[in-house]
Amino acid sequence: SIVYLNGEFLPAEQAHVPVLDRGFLFGDGVYEVVPAYGGRLLRLEQHLARLEQSLAGIRMSPPLEREAWARILEELIRRNDGDTDISVYLQVTRGVAPKRDHAFPAEVRPTVFAMTSPIPPVPARVLEEGVAAITLDDIRWSYCNIKAITLLPNVLLRQQAVDSGAAEAILIRDGHAIEGSASNLFVVLEGVIVTPPLGPQLLPGITRDLVLELCARHGLPHREAAITEAELRGAREIWVTSSTKEVVPVTRLDGQPVGDGSPGPVWRNVIGLYQDHKAALREG
Ligand code: PLP
Repeated sequence: SIVYLNGEFLPAEQAHVPVLDRGFLFGDGVYEVVPAYGGRLLRLEQHLARLEQSLAGIRMSPPLEREAWARILEELIRRNDGDTDISVYLQVTRGVAPKRDHAFPAEVRPTVFAMTSPIPPVPARVLEEGVAAITLDDIRWSYCNIKAITLLPNVLLRQQAVDSGAAEAILIRDGHAIEGSASNLFVVLEGVIVTPPLGPQLLPGITRDLVLELCARHGLPHREAAITEAELRGAREIWVTSSTKEVVPVTRLDGQPVGDGSPGPVWRNVIGLYQDHKAALREG
């Protein structure tokens, strides 16, 4: 595949980053994942706005204007079989420093990297049966609203879920369900769609935002409110959302069925609206 690195488009095998890059040594950088359907980027403006927020959160200035980002991502899609469904991963690190030192180097140029990956279709089995999730303590840091490349806690949490036969870990902090290891969380409580409010404990997901917008547009009762662990366990429906997996119904939580143990009617409604939104984007 063709990737983008610091101003150049080149084959992935030929793209190299020096070992003194602070992304490699410290995880000192931020990233985005933007899905594209039929060559059209979904919510690019929102992704770039979040990227700017993440950069500001680690005290970096944006290396590129939004129009420049758009041109690079569109070119990358064109060069990588862009008519299929693909996601663009983009990453900005603080750059290559003269030596390993925690404090920011005086003069450093950011390393800017982007690549594409195919988005596999959501397996029929997931849509029919949903997935299993487990709850785990949220061991992450205090700035989960920054989309930092420093993902070791998320990696360990997701692996723990996979080891126990689950697709996702739902993270619990101070008695509240926050989000997944790589997804946002929705539950249905007494007919109302509920997702935790934005703040430093969770990522402001672009899919979360789109789902809320679709709920508002179609008059589905919804609310941004804290979700207690007891509410999570008693919810009729649980979903997790992300750009590449969309809206996934969780039908088993810690080995217990969620609701009647199959994907619920509210999810069915929302995934239909989500698919319609994607189809409209594809058709321009
Ligand atoms: N929360 C976390 C921790 C994530 O890593 C992700 C995405 O990978 C999300 C939420 C979902 O965000 P988005 O819908 O923007 O993909």
